[in-house]
Amino acid sequence: MRYRLRNISLAVYNNIPLRLASPYIEEESPPLLRRGRGGISFPATTDFEEMQLALKAAERGGRRGEAPVGAVLVCGADRFVSYNLRECRNDPTAHAELLAIRKAAKKLSRWRLGGTLYVTLEPCAMCAGAILEARVTRLVFGAFDPKAGACGSVWNIIEERKVRHAIVVMGGVMEEESKDLLKEFFAGRRAEKRNL
Ligand SMILES: [Zn+2]
Repeated sequence: MRYRLRNISLAVYNNIPLRLASPYIEEESPPLLRRGRGGISFPATTDFEEMQLALKAAERGGRRGEAPVGAVLVCGADRFVSYNLRECRNDPTAHAELLAIRKAAKKLSRWRLGGTLYVTLEPCAMCAGAILEARVTRLVFGAFDPKAGACGSVWNIIEERKVRHAIVVMGGVMEEESKDLLKEFFAGRRAEKRNL
């Protein structure tokens, strides 16, 4: 059985009420649960903490005029934080998750990274490919991207059965915060254009 993304609430799953460590969940709409090929997973308190760091990184990017998307790659005791730098670097590949992967690979001197990648926006096709190439073990993302998401929205590269690397994917964690950042940024940019 394959579970649909948006229909499973964390509060009740298979008629078993779930108690989660983070009070955050009770206050907000339940985060989405996703069944990746690695099995079913639930967000833990640390997932929210790391996601918060990713959101802060996204904000930093926003202040530099970048579309605010942030990523945190946690590999054991190491943490690599990045944000989108496409505009600053005039580099179409400078997406937050790709930059975090590059940083980690350089620092750790290896390309098989493992670890958990947190990103505020659903990865695109390029980043989904890079995440698989880097053998990331878990992917946690915030907002879904109905225009370019490659983790279920437009494509599902990340869970493509032909790909041999299995990854646990969880989407919709702190979705509202991630979405609001992007919305505010683009609303601000539209307002600026109107005032020109
Ligand atoms: Zn990307």
